[in-house]
Amino acid sequence: KQAELAMYQSKKSGKNGLKFFEPSMESLVKERAEMEKELRNAIENQEFVLYYQAQMDDAQKVVGAEALVRWNHPSKGLISPLDFIPIAEESDIILKLGNWILKSACDELYRWSLTDTMHNITLAINVSVKQFSQNNFVKSTLSIIEQSGANPKLIKLEITESMLVEDKAGIVEKMDKLKEVGIRFSLDDFGTGYSSLSYLKQLPIDQLKIDQSFVKDILIDKNDETICKSTIAIAQSMGLNVIAEGVETAEQKEMLNLLGCATYQGYLFSKPIASKEFELFVKAHANL
Ligand code: C2E
Ligand code: CA
Ligand code: CA
Repeated sequence: KQAELAMYQSKKSGKNGLKFFEPSMESLVKERAEMEKELRNAIENQEFVLYYQAQMDDAQKVVGAEALVRWNHPSKGLISPLDFIPIAEESDIILKLGNWILKSACDELYRWSLTDTMHNITLAINVSVKQFSQNNFVKSTLSIIEQSGANPKLIKLEITESMLVEDKAGIVEKMDKLKEVGIRFSLDDFGTGYSSLSYLKQLPIDQLKIDQSFVKDILIDKNDETICKSTIAIAQSMGLNVIAEGVETAEQKEMLNLLGCATYQGYLFSKPIASKEFELFVKAHANL
């Protein structure tokens, strides 16, 4: 068993590797197995919660939000999705969790529709590869939206480039069906994968999301500036929207704006916050 663990670790770090067994490998595997077990019960136990992060326009108005899931673990407190989404994705847990996320986000969007200040705010929802590739993804998504009463025109599904490797025709068909009711698509983490431009052209995408890794050093790294500039140019020439994520300083925002980007998300405006807080945030910005 220990040899096997070492072998997996070695395989993970590339071909022709060499790894000796270390006790930490065993504890890591144990931890993951434990987490997977707990994850399975977390939905029933209502331990997941959605946070919302504002998406702003140039006039400092909140135009949208991204729903970001958190795991409120009974003893460990709030756990970041970076720590549990990958584990959920390795098993079928992500399917149930994905549906829970979709449903909760749509319920929230419906509640917003009943308010004066929030009725036209869009909501971006992350969809994982495994979820999207399910045969019944379109049907179950449409039915969740319909049951919630949420306006599909205000829903943006965030997909990643890694989703786009296989079965292009099938993916386009699914996207088209969802677009029929007004759902839009945003390409998350743009530029970090293997975006082929010809591929991009064939997909019914509405928005490119500039990854935070390019925004981070946009003021000091000329390459990052060039990547952001090119992404914005690609979006403009393809008639797509563009949003930058991970905007932390006014200077980064200014630079992005100079390059032609007009929608932003990041700590400069707000961290992801609980639903109640987000409502207050929107209200405060509506009265500016
Ligand atoms: P992502 O979709 O790229 O989400 C953006 C991440 O950047 C979020 O981390 C957000 O909190 C963080 N962020 C936002 N603004 C800033 C900023 O100004 N500076 C910095 N340093 N970070 C910023 P979070 O919430 O921990 O989510 C991490 C990842 O987990 C997400 O990356 C996404 O891949 C995944 N995830 C989160 N929620 C969901 C979900 O509901 N479903 C699925 N399938 N994946 C999710
Ligand atoms: Ca996202
Ligand atoms: Ca992202």
